[in-house]
Amino acid sequence: MKVSIDLDKCAGHARCYATSPDLFDIDDSGYACNAEIDVPPGQESIAAEAAAACPERAIETH
Ligand code: SF4
Repeated sequence: MKVSIDLDKCAGHARCYATSPDLFDIDDSGYACNAEIDVPPGQESIAAEAAAACPERAIETH
């Protein structure tokens, strides 16, 4: 599984990082850093949870 983040939609809520600090990196202002993340096996459900937690719907899993 991969996670894609539309960095143009990201508004810096840092909810993704709060859900999974292992998967997501944020900058000092709370904005997501990486547009593509490889999800390690076993972390699919937390990735989906983070996608659902993003208020901007900037995160997609595929
Ligand atoms: S939760 Fe969404 S808006 Fe907030 S930092 Fe993560 S990607 Fe950006």
